[in-house]
Amino acid sequence: MKNLGVPTILGIPFDGHSSYLRGAGEVPGKIRAALHCDASNNWTESGVELDRAGVYEDAGDLELSETNAFAVIEGSVTALLDRGKRPVMLGGDHSITYPIIKAVGLRYPRLTIFHFDAHPDLYDELDGDRLSHACPFARIMEAGLAKRLVQVGIRTINGHQREQAQRFGVEVIEMSSLPAYHRLKEAGPVYISFDMDVLDPAFAPGVSHREPGGMSVREAVAHLHAIEGEIVGADVVEYNPVQDLGGVTATAAAKVLKEILGKMISG
Ligand code: MN
Ligand code: MN
Repeated sequence: MKNLGVPTILGIPFDGHSSYLRGAGEVPGKIRAALHCDASNNWTESGVELDRAGVYEDAGDLELSETNAFAVIEGSVTALLDRGKRPVMLGGDHSITYPIIKAVGLRYPRLTIFHFDAHPDLYDELDGDRLSHACPFARIMEAGLAKRLVQVGIRTINGHQREQAQRFGVEVIEMSSLPAYHRLKEAGPVYISFDMDVLDPAFAPGVSHREPGGMSVREAVAHLHAIEGEIVGADVVEYNPVQDLGGVTATAAAKVLKEILGKMISG
């Protein structure tokens, strides 16, 4: 297996382009706390011991203001790639995936994105904001930053976004057609963008836009495990602690993070 670099966590506490609710400030710390919580151990289901020194690293959290955020995010992800690391971002609202992919897409011009979400996030603009968390994949595809965009778990697509998906050649796998393990295979570089609201609100109430009829944690993990390709980066976004109940969503986010790290390490 190719050495793609050590997975390295980068916290991005930014929700400046969230259209409905705020609450991302404490997110990376809460997901880390759940990851290290003594209620579970540090072995992934794929058999990787995350406590073993050097299997992954943590670059801490970015300090961001609303005006410089996107430039700092793009620059910081580029810096990690320059150091030979594989960036794993803890969000933040989903708007951050655009500056992240500006950096990752430049490094890997034949990039495939596997995007887990209740929403396609393909709006041309929302409430006059073209950088809204409802728009990142329109910006990414317009800029030609990904060869393939495969969206999994979608259950809110409307007429405009269906047109956008057609325009950009997006492969939309709606929630109603899961499981779709065979659609998650790719020979080249792969980036995973995981919006926590792909999970059913029963499993992950701590999101800004609760959308019933979603994945169980088990279904999400099964689809993550089914991914084939060279995973060069990932993000876990849209966790909103303000909406969480008893930390259950932080625990679910940590589980998703853990299995993504395991997948990156064990291939
Ligand atoms: Mn999203
Ligand atoms: Mn979403």
